[in-house]
Amino acid sequence: MADENINVNEDGTRTDENGVNIAGSETLTETDRKCPNCGGTMDFDPESGKLHCPYCDYQEVIPQADNAPASAVELDFLSAENKETNCNWGAEKKAVVCKSCGAETIYDALAVSSECPYCGSNQVMEAAGEKTLAPGGVVPFKITNEVAGDNFKRWIKKKFFCPKLAKESAKPEAFTGIYLPYWTFDTSTVSSYKGKYGKDRTVTRKDSNGQTHTETVTDWYRTSGIYREDFDDELVLATNRHEPAILNGLAPFDTADNKAYKPEYVAGFAAERYTIGLKDGWETAKKSIFKKINSGVTRKITHEHNADHVTDLKINSTFNKITYKYLMLPIWVSSFQYKGKVYQFMVNGQTGKVYGKTPVSAGKVLLIVGLGILALLLICGCAGVLGLFDDSGFISGMSSFLF
Ligand SMILES: [Zn+2]
Ligand SMILES: [Zn+2]
Repeated sequence: MADENINVNEDGTRTDENGVNIAGSETLTETDRKCPNCGGTMDFDPESGKLHCPYCDYQEVIPQADNAPASAVELDFLSAENKETNCNWGAEKKAVVCKSCGAETIYDALAVSSECPYCGSNQVMEAAGEKTLAPGGVVPFKITNEVAGDNFKRWIKKKFFCPKLAKESAKPEAFTGIYLPYWTFDTSTVSSYKGKYGKDRTVTRKDSNGQTHTETVTDWYRTSGIYREDFDDELVLATNRHEPAILNGLAPFDTADNKAYKPEYVAGFAAERYTIGLKDGWETAKKSIFKKINSGVTRKITHEHNADHVTDLKINSTFNKITYKYLMLPIWVSSFQYKGKVYQFMVNGQTGKVYGKTPVSAGKVLLIVGLGILALLLICGCAGVLGLFDDSGFISGMSSFLF
């Protein structure tokens, strides 16, 4: 990225060779902390929670202002909606001048922090643009990359469908620690609902032959009422640049354990800004909150009427006292190769939970499908078909293929 040609235009704006607009960006000096012992660049250390010099092991406590809040403050959603008009950063790239060595580097507009390619200084850029929000909190890395690697090895060993060879040979590439943007929402909800519930009873009947037999009959009743539930820290991924399926697999995060955003926490790590704005984030949160309200109402009706079924629910919810936080959550990103294919995985930087893709052993899948068919046949009692199966040698053939 450092070798790109930058054109300075007549009006002072800058563009790259493709004419793409390049914005300027400032870095914050407190993140480019040099070790007072040896002059090395200090990084945030997940183990101690301090700034740490990787060369001489010197450590320094991250300074806290006396009256500053310790963790992210809940902000009012409705007043923020007017402030945050877009998540378009105005340019796809930005130029950053290193405060240490003066070299200019072009970064992706979404990068919040990186390392100067010339001198290795940590560069954390200003947190907010004109119409965009600054992170309120950060959940700092607690898990080191060594622990993330150990967790990965344990995790892949437990993957049933993963071929044995892949389990033994999977070597994670170097881990990249990255802070990804998330929204969290709190809201106090009131819902009015209408619906039907059913209660089962058993009746005994005599058929025309005089035989008695029992059957279940459901009686249906109408119901309506009010349901209240408060939600705390509904978490929504605020970027669409990374695979959501893997990121969702890293949940949960303990978002209560966050620190008020200070650039020192992201020193030495990559960090990204949000690409999914606050309004869109809230729409996603509303959907998952509504699902929870739906099951809450179902539980309430079931409990109140000792019901066996709840159906035809019509729910009208109002969301009061909506507050939000913009948090940076820690994620280790890595991948491994197997038979020339790259498999990405991630590790929750707070809890150490691993999630990702693994190769699938065709043999093991066949085994499970085969066993499933076998179980079905046994259940159906299709002895004849089973005999045919044996004659074909399929089962014995498959087992020698697998073991
Ligand atoms: Zn040092
Ligand atoms: Zn530099």
